[in-house]
Amino acid sequence: MSLPFVLHIDIDAFFAAVEVKLNPALKGKPVIVGGLPGERGVVCTASYEARKYGVHSGMALQTAAKRCPRGIFLRGRYHIYSRVSGRFFACLKRFSPRVENYSIDEAYIDLSGTKYLSSSVYRLGHEIKCAVEREIGLKVSAGLGFSKLGAKLATEAAKPGNFFVLYNEREFITNISIEKIPGIGPHTLLILRGLGINTVKQLETAYPSIWRRTIGPHFYSGSGFPVRKEPKTKSYSRETTFPEDISDRELISSHLAYLVSRLSVHLGENKLFAGRIEVKVRFSDFSTYSRRLPLDYPTYSYSSLWQTALHLLNVLLKKKKRALRLVGAKVEDITNRRDLLPFVSVKGEKLSAGVRDIKKRFGFSSIVTARELLLKDIYPVEREGIVLKTASLTK
Ligand SMILES: [Mg+2]
Repeated sequence: MSLPFVLHIDIDAFFAAVEVKLNPALKGKPVIVGGLPGERGVVCTASYEARKYGVHSGMALQTAAKRCPRGIFLRGRYHIYSRVSGRFFACLKRFSPRVENYSIDEAYIDLSGTKYLSSSVYRLGHEIKCAVEREIGLKVSAGLGFSKLGAKLATEAAKPGNFFVLYNEREFITNISIEKIPGIGPHTLLILRGLGINTVKQLETAYPSIWRRTIGPHFYSGSGFPVRKEPKTKSYSRETTFPEDISDRELISSHLAYLVSRLSVHLGENKLFAGRIEVKVRFSDFSTYSRRLPLDYPTYSYSSLWQTALHLLNVLLKKKKRALRLVGAKVEDITNRRDLLPFVSVKGEKLSAGVRDIKKRFGFSSIVTARELLLKDIYPVEREGIVLKTASLTK
């Protein structure tokens, strides 16, 4: 299992930034969205210029008006903000299927297992930040950590407009002031301060039992994303003994192609992906050999599985100048994780899914590769497939 990586992204001064974008004359001015100065209600968003006057979200409009009399107060256009928000989340979902909408302008993205998308997870985080900014035309802050908490704290440190990576998350969190921890409100803060506690580390060491029962479990305990159940079965295999020993390479490979196609369909039906494939042969003298290779990425695509299987078969057939009595294929490192989408493998998998649908509707043998066609002359063909001499086996 690789380390979890979580990216947190937050749009800077979201509502105010949208207003400035729609009306560039507001640029550089203290913009306060939430209502007009005389109205009841609170500030939703204050631009960074307004924050210099001590205005922040949640503050009563009347207080804000006193602190920043020259502020530009706007009621807000929420239908526009929600449209921008939709584009924000759609952009994030292109990078990972696991995106948690935390609020209208804030999200956690699980980047664990996205190692195929970029040369490093740090670079990927930065790419995502830039892609979002291009797409919505607003500045965002981003933080990368090993947990949601770490990522969020990293973003806080990155504001406004930067990208911050938490290399030593545990040390960073333990030394942080307790009021920075999300979820610790003014009331709890007062109690903790009364006990002389100012940092996470102090709480952990001074009151370990309180720590364990309350906020402790949220710390250092993985990404914070729900853990997906990995499939119980770690491999599937299909093999067959021939009615008579075979020396013809084409015929041997057509048997293997059929077995691989059955594996591909089985994986696809169960939404599983194989990380490795093994080919096994038994020669007429009963000597048995197998070779395995990792696939470029976890997949159920027939063409990916077959390319590697054929290569392995050719390697194995060089072992002896003898006829073969058995051939088999096994897929291993089975996973149900789809972290790689949509950047790789889609083409081969779409084709495999289409073929699978046809097989399901019209019978397994209704559509076969040219290679498998040879088998139709040797074995009986039924709706469920070609009837080989020994039934396929599954481990
Ligand atoms: Mg924000």
